[in-house]
Amino acid sequence: MSPQKRPSARELLTDTSVEILATVFAGQVRSAVIERALKQMAEAEAEAVARGAAHRRQAVTTLSDRQLAILRLRADGYSGPQIAAKLTIAVSTVDYHERVICHRLEAVNITNAVDRAYQAGIFRRERHGDHAGYAAHLYRGEDPCDACKTGERAYRNNLRQQREAAA
Ligand SMILES: [Zn+2]
Repeated sequence: MSPQKRPSARELLTDTSVEILATVFAGQVRSAVIERALKQMAEAEAEAVARGAAHRRQAVTTLSDRQLAILRLRADGYSGPQIAAKLTIAVSTVDYHERVICHRLEAVNITNAVDRAYQAGIFRRERHGDHAGYAAHLYRGEDPCDACKTGERAYRNNLRQQREAAA
């Protein structure tokens, strides 16, 4: 008595089913591989960003007080000549300091250096040039910057005009 041969799983499936299964399985394998790769890339990216930020925070500690002041003024929107006038130094001296800042922060230009300083958490983004910026200075116990004083003046003039128009 020969044992009855049981049909294999392959024999129970049509060619089309096998094809579908193969496609689905290949897709799952591929997506798992891609997902793992993407996760590794995201982790590497996050690590690089964190390393870059730490590196720049470190780099900033090598900037002189004057260079930090220039970077801060640039962040507040002052131009090179305006910074030179404010610090009573030559424009060429500002340029020199800015080249050092860019080199240390590995920035292509001073705007990029300001961005990098923000990214590294060296500066907080503060609002300047309007009533809110002016109020924020007072709240921080500071003397408002020129941009905020100008903004505050415009704000008060505007309020007065509105009151006069309403009267
Ligand atoms: Zn301000």
